[in-house]
Amino acid sequence: MHKIEHIGIAVQNLENAIEKYEILLNTPCYKTEMVNSEQVNTAFFSVGDSKIELLASLDTEGVIPKFIAKRGEGLHHIAFEVTDIEKEIERLKQAGFSFINEVPKIGADNKLVCFIHPKTANGVLIELCQEIKS
Ligand code: ZN
Repeated sequence: MHKIEHIGIAVQNLENAIEKYEILLNTPCYKTEMVNSEQVNTAFFSVGDSKIELLASLDTEGVIPKFIAKRGEGLHHIAFEVTDIEKEIERLKQAGFSFINEVPKIGADNKLVCFIHPKTANGVLIELCQEIKS
């Protein structure tokens, strides 16, 4: 794994959170993107070599409302950049990690993504992401 590609933060209201994080990070949000497969709206900020991804739900159902109901707004996941996502999934499965999705899917920001279940990673939801080369 190369680096922390981004940190995902679950928020209630995306517009309010964007305003706040633009001040906090002193940089404008460079992109918002809907991820229909996850029913979320995302907003990205670049911070040095990494990014912050704000996640808000498009719906009252889904992973983000469930997360916020249980734990409140806040740190949702840490994403690591990999070059070969299939290989990493295989390696980590062998090592006993369980995945929420073992088959990579298309996530935000032109990435193939998969998630490791927090119960096998000490309570942290881990995302692996690989840039889709076109
Ligand atoms: Zn993410």
